[in-house]
This record gives sequence, structure tokens and C-alpha cells, in this order.
Amino acid sequence: MNIIKQAAGGGLEQVREEDLEEINRWSRRTLKAEEVYVFSLRLCDNEVDREEERFEAETLEELAPLFLGKSGIFDHQWSAQGQTARIYRTEVVRQPEELTRAGDGLCWLKGYAYMLRTPGTEELIARIEGGILREVSVGCAVERVVCSVCGAPRGECRHVPGERYDGRLCYVSLRGGSDAFEWSFVAVPAQREAGVLKTAGLRRALADRPEELERLRELEQEAADGRRWREELRREVVRLGLLADRNAPAALLERIAGGLDTRELEALRDTYQARVEERFPLPVQLSYERGAAGGGGDGAFII
Ligand SMILES: [Zn+2]
Repeated sequence: MNIIKQAAGGGLEQVREEDLEEINRWSRRTLKAEEVYVFSLRLCDNEVDREEERFEAETLEELAPLFLGKSGIFDHQWSAQGQTARIYRTEVVRQPEELTRAGDGLCWLKGYAYMLRTPGTEELIARIEGGILREVSVGCAVERVVCSVCGAPRGECRHVPGERYDGRLCYVSLRGGSDAFEWSFVAVPAQREAGVLKTAGLRRALADRPEELERLRELEQEAADGRRWREELRREVVRLGLLADRNAPAALLERIAGGLDTRELEALRDTYQARVEERFPLPVQLSYERGAAGGGGDGAFII
């Protein structure tokens, strides 16, 4: 950890005048350049994800303004200290030369976030710089969830997401971006590429220090393993929470689960598990029900 703290000092981004103007639209008091740390994130893209779902390019355009001013939360230990970052600018980046699995040009929603630089945020910034906190989970709502082949609401046609029909990949299309919730740094996002975009990294700062680079790689690996397990737990907690209480807002459950550490997640999972068993004496399978409303209606999607 010390290595990360030491090395990150040189890698911080310069805050430009235009950034500061936009940041000050959201801050409670007028901030100076040296008081803030800025970084960019990949919030979501139009790539078909592990759940065979994707945002359409238009959906990303609709979501872009909705993310302005939204706070991001970090792991439990940071959130407990009130450490948050806030998005002050968004843009849809188009990379037509790079194709998605659906065969069209890649585009993604880029967010710029700032946080206050205080002695308390030093290590957090080092983690962002070092790529240890680099995975982002965002919550947002879409109006329609439809089959990409025929446009029918999800689950109401015979097309199977992930299969090809006349050479075209079938996927679940998320359309009509209608709301954006808070975002958080978590492990292994559903979207393959989501994460912090490092513009000046620790790796470069350590280029001529092979032993420390090796240690950094080890730390990254350890962090990745831990995050993966926590993410599995987090998903399980949200799934069980929705089963235990049909009225629980998915976004809220997601937020709660995102702020807990592994032990707390395990405890909450057991609590929900017991409640679900009370409600449903027989084993149940949760079909497609990640959103608050699910199906083809209004739904909150945690990506
Ligand atoms: Zn269909």
C-alpha cells in the first residue's frame, strides 16, 4: 500500500479552468484547482454484456445529461468517512472503427468526476490512480426492455438472447434512458469495459522499478480476487432482497449492498435467505427480475 501512496503523487491530473467552472456548478462552495482531484470513468457502453443486454447508442445519449451531478460511492470504509466523488461532465464517445458484438460501432458514456483533495482522500486517490479501484457500477432506469430481433418486450417472443438469427446477434435492448442513480466503485462490472480511465498512471511512474511493479501486480491480483467474491455476494444479496420483499427498490438494495464489506454481505445474505424461505416454502427460481418492475415495463436496471 505504501508504494501506491508514494508513487501516486506524481501522477495526478491537472485541473483545467473549464473543469473548475463546471465543478463549481455542483459544489457547495467555490473550489480552487488545488482542492480537487478529477478523473474520468467509463459509465456504460453499447457493447452486449454478460447478461446479453446492451444500451443502444440513443439510450446512452439520453442517459448522459441524467448522470450530471450524481454522486459516486466507494467501498464501505471510504463511504463511512463520507468520501464521495461527483460527476460534473458527461459525453458519449464514438469509436466507429471498433465493433461491438452486435456488429455496429462502439460508443460509450464517459463521465468526468471530481472529489475533494484532503489528507483523508489521499489513499483513495492513490487507489484510483493505481487502478485498484477501477471498476464502476452504475444504476439507471430505462423505459423499454426489448428483443433486438423483433422488438417485442423481453420474454414475450421466441428469440433467445445470445443466439444468432440470419447472422444477427439477438440481445436484450435497453431503450429510453429515463433516470440515472448513484454510481459506485465495485468489483467486476456486468459491462466488460466499465472502469476508470487512467490518463496518468502509477504503472508509468513505476516503469523503472521492476520489484515495485511486480508488487503492484500482486496487489492488483489480490484485489481482483477479493472483489470478485464480494461482487458475487453483492448480487446474491440483491437477488434475495428482491425475493424477500417485492416492494424493495432494486436501486436501493444495490446501494446498500454496494456499501457493505464481505462479512456484512454474508450476514445480510443469510438474513434474506431465511426470510425468503419463510415466504416461499418451496425452492424458487428467480427468472428475469433484476429491475423494480421487471419485464417490459419501467424498470430500474443495475448495470
Ligand atoms: Zn424477438
